[in-house]
Amino acid sequence: MSSPALSLPDLIAATTATLEKIAADYTPAVFASSLAAEDMVLTDLILRNQLQDRIDIFTLETGRLHAETLGMLDRIRQTYDYDVTAYRPQPEAVAAYVEQNGLNAFYDSIEMRKECCRIRKIEPLNRALTGNRAWITGQRRAQSQTRAELHVQERDAAHEMEKFNPLADWSEENVWQYIRSNNVPYNPLHDKGYPSIGCEPCTRAIEPGEDVRAGRWWWENPESKECGLHVVDGKLIRIKSVTQSNA
Ligand code: SF4
Repeated sequence: MSSPALSLPDLIAATTATLEKIAADYTPAVFASSLAAEDMVLTDLILRNQLQDRIDIFTLETGRLHAETLGMLDRIRQTYDYDVTAYRPQPEAVAAYVEQNGLNAFYDSIEMRKECCRIRKIEPLNRALTGNRAWITGQRRAQSQTRAELHVQERDAAHEMEKFNPLADWSEENVWQYIRSNNVPYNPLHDKGYPSIGCEPCTRAIEPGEDVRAGRWWWENPESKECGLHVVDGKLIRIKSVTQSNA
């Protein structure tokens, strides 16, 4: 069941309390950052509260990210004096895929696309999560198709660890209020029509009013738009249609 809307200060307090609980009771823990707006809020809260020794921040550097997204690693370093850990795909797996199928074979079929995501995202994610007790994501309830009831804390049976979604109760407006009032660095692509940012060849800008995920894997039908990063109760989490109102 959805919680009643909280004020931004209340959301910040609750989210900080969640992060502190993770740091106290669920270490080693990691935060999987896509370097997008929500994830910058969590990055700021982790570093502002000096929790980085107990919550490592990592990103999946797929080898196909936009220059603007990669530039966020430098901006985080300059702003916070913190190096986000980058997990990269196995070079031999990428080389074999490209040799057998071509560099951009993900346009050819859903199977080819999912295999590219498996090599460049899923395998590195599994490596990043290994040995941890909990992982953290920037997912929000308002983005989840299969889980209007997305919980702040849930069991990730697939990875056999706790999974925390500390921004579950946040609205998109809350996210941008926080970013702007705290001068949090954010990916400049958000100001160019990219509400959802993934790999460069698989993401395009959207028009106002379009589905927030319309720019992701736009050549596929909506049912297949997932990459397998989020699994709950044995089901892949997909992102529903949400009208972009900010960023
Ligand atoms: S989003 Fe595109 S380029 Fe990135 S891993 Fe998936 S298929 Fe490959």
